Amino acid sequence: MSKPRIHVSKCLGFGICRWDGKEILNGFIEKLKTEIEFISVCPELAIGLGVPRDPVRLVYKGDKLYFLQTNTKKDLTMAMKNFADKIVGSLARIDGFILKDHSPSCGISNVGVYPSLTSKEPVSMTNGFFASQILKRFPETPAITEKMLSDDKKREDFLDKIFKSTNIWK
Ligand code: SF4
Repeated sequence: MSKPRIHVSKCLGFGICRWDGKEILNGFIEKLKTEIEFISVCPELAIGLGVPRDPVRLVYKGDKLYFLQTNTKKDLTMAMKNFADKIVGSLARIDGFILKDHSPSCGISNVGVYPSLTSKEPVSMTNGFFASQILKRFPETPAITEKMLSDDKKREDFLDKIFKSTNIWK
């Protein structure tokens, strides 16, 4: 029987790839490693950023959203869009997403959007840039962050959906 195939942010126990070089281990994801086929991806590494690296942020200019590196001021918007397209094209079957909370690339719903590279306060909150591209293309596929996995109800709902979709739940 096939295991659920889950796309996971690589920094959640699959490699050291965060901007600050820190590793994040999540006990629950570690337990799932025998039950799930994880496909780990770090979009920031994939577009050529190193470890450690200057952080990135989402910035509104006019009515357009940009994905910019704060210190170098590099515009990584097209690079990240192109990488997201490539990933979407490669996901023939995917049963769910576990993404890194709060990340400007991978976060779900609570990522700050800033009016400039230097402003301290966000003007709104949204999905991370990479997450928004892939979740748009897979609107019915369950998605959760590692932080939401510590909420009993959200975790159970997520597991129920991904294991049901592969018919091996309970
Ligand atoms: S949050 Fe996403 S982009 Fe950032 S290190 Fe983790 S996998 Fe890479």
